[in-house]
Amino acid sequence: MRTAYVAARVLPDADTLIRDGAVVVEGDRIAWVGAFRDAPAADERVDLGNAVLMPGLVNAHSHLDLTHLKGSVPFEGEFAKWAERVMHGRKKPGMADAARKGIREALARGTTTFGDIVDRRSFEEIVEVFRETGARGRLFVEAIGFRPEAANEIFEAVWDLVEMQALPGNVATGVSPHAPYSVSRALLERAVAVADGHGRPLAVHLAETLEELAFLRHGIGPLRELLKRAGADDPSFKPEGSAAAFLALIEMTRAPLLLVHGNYLRPRDVPAAAFVVYCPTAHAFFRHPEHPVIELLEEGVRVALGSDSAASGETVDLLSETQHLARERPDVSPKAIFRMATEWGARALSFDAGVLKAGCLADLAAFTPAAGHEILGRPDARCVLTVVDGRVLHRVDPAPPLGETAKLPTVA
Ligand SMILES: [Zn+2]
Repeated sequence: MRTAYVAARVLPDADTLIRDGAVVVEGDRIAWVGAFRDAPAADERVDLGNAVLMPGLVNAHSHLDLTHLKGSVPFEGEFAKWAERVMHGRKKPGMADAARKGIREALARGTTTFGDIVDRRSFEEIVEVFRETGARGRLFVEAIGFRPEAANEIFEAVWDLVEMQALPGNVATGVSPHAPYSVSRALLERAVAVADGHGRPLAVHLAETLEELAFLRHGIGPLRELLKRAGADDPSFKPEGSAAAFLALIEMTRAPLLLVHGNYLRPRDVPAAAFVVYCPTAHAFFRHPEHPVIELLEEGVRVALGSDSAASGETVDLLSETQHLARERPDVSPKAIFRMATEWGARALSFDAGVLKAGCLADLAAFTPAAGHEILGRPDARCVLTVVDGRVLHRVDPAPPLGETAKLPTVA
């Protein structure tokens, strides 16, 4: 079964625009991309009319198991206090329903893929939510534990989930040693060695707050106090001194490394194989100084985009992030935003997607109006189609012209 999706404009990647284009999908893969007049025969034609068709958007960092905390945890100036409230709120009921709703809203706005950090206790429910919604997910099982003596036991429990056999085809896994202030170095080293050995991506929150930098430098500050309050401190802990020194502990050679936030990272600290994941609305929520995204891009660092959790933002859909970014940072070009939202997100999550090319996974999104790469920054962008693995998960039919009910508009 071959389906041709036809649109006034097709954007296969951040550098290419095809007028009156088509994308032919066969099964879960893209079979052909080009001008409509050259398209091969297909069994079915979906005419999107005056729309722009592109790769599905990739939210490279979410915490869907915190979606039920939306709007309920204000930030009052101290990150450690905010994180402590989130930890306590995590156990509230309604988690899976909120996550399902968050994913469906994101699918209806063109997000096809999530790099989701999952607490061990929520893992099976979140897998089920992905199975039901059909969104693509790289689920990073979270490893947390600051006491070195618990490292092996924690890692074994994490790895059992990472290697779980009966996962749906739209779900893959990775590992997330949470952050420098919440994992022992023994747990970090074990996670890095095993994840890389098995080719599993690894995500770590890094250089997110000034509190974390104080912790890395001197082992002091609100985050150390939080560990003590939680009865989770390790009195023998010796800080690395800096985010760069911490990064020297993480060498990934086979699988991607995602450095989440990087609000205070310098480009020269980022290893060549790593991705930085910038979360624009969460960055604004915590009132950080300007993100170094331009410096990172100029030095050739690959940057992906994420939403972080609904506890530090409104939604988990990536279009809201790109619209926020375009509004707040006019110095970031539309093509850079496009690449971060698609190709680099997919590569960070190690999925064969993020560009429209024969052989890639058929993850697509279409928006009106028919614009160029700047569409992801337009406040009036409206998603009319979302496809994951070749399956249509969201579709808005264009309004039929007066007097006609069945005939869709043809390509201009
Ligand atoms: Zn996060």
